[in-house]
Amino acid sequence: MKILVVGAVAGGATALARLRRMDEDAEIIVFERGNYISYANCGLPYYIGEAIKNRDSLFVSDKDTIEAKYGVEIRLNSNVSAINRDKKTVTVENILEDTTYEESYDKILLSTGSSPFVSNPAWLDQNRVFKLWTIPDTDAIYDFIRRNSPKSAVIVGGGFIGLEMAENLVDRGIDVSLCDMADQVMPPMDKDMAKIVEIRLAEKGVNLYLGNGLKDIQNDGAVVTLANGTTLETELAILSIGVKPNSQIAEAAGLELNERRGIKVDKYMRTSDENIYAVGDVIGVTDYILGNETMIPLAGPANKQGRNVAENILDIGKKTYDGTLGTSVAKIFDMTVASTGASEKSLNRAGKVYGKDYLYTIVHPMSHAGYYPGATPMTIKLIFATDGKVLGAQIAGYKGVDKRIDTISTLLHFHGTVTDLTNLELAYAPPYSSAKDPVNFAGYTAENILAGLVSPITLDELEA
Ligand code: FAD
Repeated sequence: MKILVVGAVAGGATALARLRRMDEDAEIIVFERGNYISYANCGLPYYIGEAIKNRDSLFVSDKDTIEAKYGVEIRLNSNVSAINRDKKTVTVENILEDTTYEESYDKILLSTGSSPFVSNPAWLDQNRVFKLWTIPDTDAIYDFIRRNSPKSAVIVGGGFIGLEMAENLVDRGIDVSLCDMADQVMPPMDKDMAKIVEIRLAEKGVNLYLGNGLKDIQNDGAVVTLANGTTLETELAILSIGVKPNSQIAEAAGLELNERRGIKVDKYMRTSDENIYAVGDVIGVTDYILGNETMIPLAGPANKQGRNVAENILDIGKKTYDGTLGTSVAKIFDMTVASTGASEKSLNRAGKVYGKDYLYTIVHPMSHAGYYPGATPMTIKLIFATDGKVLGAQIAGYKGVDKRIDTISTLLHFHGTVTDLTNLELAYAPPYSSAKDPVNFAGYTAENILAGLVSPITLDELEA
């Protein structure tokens, strides 16, 4: 069987290894339009901030190593510009040699990822304006800072990458302003939880302009104008507004897309063409809690889908991917912020109503036993259905946030209830937790609410 893999970073690189492990004979050719394969894009902000000192450590592997280890052929600087389904070929542009050729296939895996959304691409032509997505983007920002030692920066977009960049630029001694058209940072979180992050950002000196999106960038990037007319003078601007799926070749080939232009796949990751599969940021996924189709561009799901799809492509098994919880975590200076499953925002978007369909509890337990030095508080918002099923959680704190979100994420995977949360037996010794772990606590208070033992009021009710 001849398999073409398009895109060779998270999903594509995982898939090629699994394809080879499951079939020693298949011919596997990997096309990557960039010059790098299998690199750590999640580490890029930390290289710019110099938390990661060595650029080479961003590369998980390289072409020669992967080719030798897996017996696959990797063609870098090779852009797949068309899928010719009638002929079962793809058209490939060799970017370095400026030539074009066709390559035949039995099966294709698309793992083409996503790209930053920039409403006016001409902004990026200005010398001080950057996006952060790839190794060349990273090199450009890193070199700009090295050559110009900017004192100020404006980041447009308060999602994960924008916030990670804020921290890393502050660490480089740069005065950072961050704007977002939304009235909060961290879109997956609810406003009440995002507020905790915003307070910490302000305490760390980040100037926030929320509910105030980007209108224009002028003077070679030196003047950023916001929607309400505020102008920010800056020496560096980074656009981190959002992402769009790289689905152009799929669309041109007539594959079915969803309303956000993500490629539609079934639970076997097969597109509307039985010989073409797709994984990663470019596909629509099922929301694991709500069941609707959505887009969740994260590395974990891309890797899992890349592993699952191999057996389906080879037709030696039927591995399903059942949906994405959107479990995510971010370091915001000394704070850790994480979420999993449904938020109030996503529930409300799906027409679910507080009190009728879902409830929540907010608790502030310590990261470990209060009597052992170094314990810090965390805030857990646990959202649950009125029948007790846990729907999602958001946590902000300083220590032990990651393991609590992963515990709740695991519970969500197995469709657990608040009572399951109270009964989870979790590792305890004073330096690590308490005999009642923070997630047990969240379960206890949720049980109390469901039993009518306490009747909390929400922030909205309090304000009213
Ligand atoms: P990618 O890994 O993006 O790979 C797609 C590849 O396809 C690209 O290299 C592209 O050049 C290539 N390609 C596209 N079209 C073509 C074509 N026509 N022909 C040939 N090649 C093509 N996720 C997290 O979960 N946690 C994090 O902390 C996190 N941090 C991030 C930080 C940054 C700066 C960035 C950019 C992303 C981060 N992500 C993070 C997101 C995560 O990296 C992506 O969700 C993941 O890489 C998606 O995998 P993928 O295989 O779908 O696409």
